[in-house]
Amino acid sequence: MTALLDRPESGIRAVLSGNTGADDVVEGRTVRTTPQCWLTDMDGVLVREEHALPGAAEFLQCLIDKQRRFLVLTNNSIYTPRDLAARLARSGLDVPESAIWTSALATAAFLVDQLPGGSAYVIGEAGLTTALHEAGYTLTDAGPDFVVLGETRTYSFEAITKAIRLIGAGARFIATNPDVTGPSAEGPLPATGSVAALITKATGREPYFVGKPNPMMFRSALNRIEAHSESTVMVGDRMDTDVVAGIEAGLETILVLTGSTTIDDVERYPFRPARILPSIAEAIDLI
Ligand SMILES: [Mg+2]
Repeated sequence: MTALLDRPESGIRAVLSGNTGADDVVEGRTVRTTPQCWLTDMDGVLVREEHALPGAAEFLQCLIDKQRRFLVLTNNSIYTPRDLAARLARSGLDVPESAIWTSALATAAFLVDQLPGGSAYVIGEAGLTTALHEAGYTLTDAGPDFVVLGETRTYSFEAITKAIRLIGAGARFIATNPDVTGPSAEGPLPATGSVAALITKATGREPYFVGKPNPMMFRSALNRIEAHSESTVMVGDRMDTDVVAGIEAGLETILVLTGSTTIDDVERYPFRPARILPSIAEAIDLI
């Protein structure tokens, strides 16, 4: 075992263990030394501001070489998996579109499970409308079963007004993810969670959020690759979404410190990931 981050004074101790073939115990938590399947967050783990993070390309290649089933996850519902695969390729990361799981796909999977062949009024971009179409949904503003809210760069007052009236008339309110802002080069952009709050204020109805931190996002991802929670690891950069949802979905969790969380932030939470690694590069030996 190689101690990477050892902070006994804070009660935080994370280790990178070798593949011994047996489960190791880290601070009382069992970690799986040879996981069969991997879920990994995208932003802050593999890429940051459209640039690949060190070790990300090698990590993905190792998953492919060792024939591990894996999915790259994002709460962003703007893009289709094909769009995202192309964006990742421009960053130097080779991820097949079939290995990308978005909150839009998770939302479509959830809706099909709830009501196959239903209808929805959608506020969102191609990532969401394509996912719902491919799941057999009809997109309409005439008495839809659901109002589905996702991310867009052009939230229109007219569309939000329509959503509010349809929800008032009985449509069920679903949102792809609760993130209140999204990043841009110029500063934060209002995102799905903020617009959902506006609609909630106007209607008195709370949406059901499908994306992280709802563990539903991970459970539908597991189903997609026929993985089992006991043999799957989740890698993320946020305690309040990736790690908590991973724990709730029964996954082993790895926090990497290349995104929005520092080692000192970890202490503020009442739960711990199984491992804390400096970056995705240190996860390669665990594959
Ligand atoms: Mg992230």
